[in-house]
Amino acid sequence: MTDHDVDCEKCEELLQGYLDRDLTREEVVVAEGHLDRCDYCRRRYRFEERLRRYIRVSASERMPAGLLAKLAELRGPSADGL
Ligand SMILES: [Zn+2]
Repeated sequence: MTDHDVDCEKCEELLQGYLDRDLTREEVVVAEGHLDRCDYCRRRYRFEERLRRYIRVSASERMPAGLLAKLAELRGPSADGL
């Protein structure tokens, strides 16, 4: 046990800020220190990181054709300006 030792609950609190690059230097040290030692939180971190990347990618990618058709449907046939 060191001064920087935190439990998983605290680490979970820091995790969102860590993923958002929104922590102070001290908090980053605490979070990384814990992730370094804790398998459970490291797995959580990787999962969250992948999830975020996935959301970012799918948000920036072109909408799938099926969804596009659905949106066109919602707009109604008269609003078809293509
Ligand atoms: Zn942990």
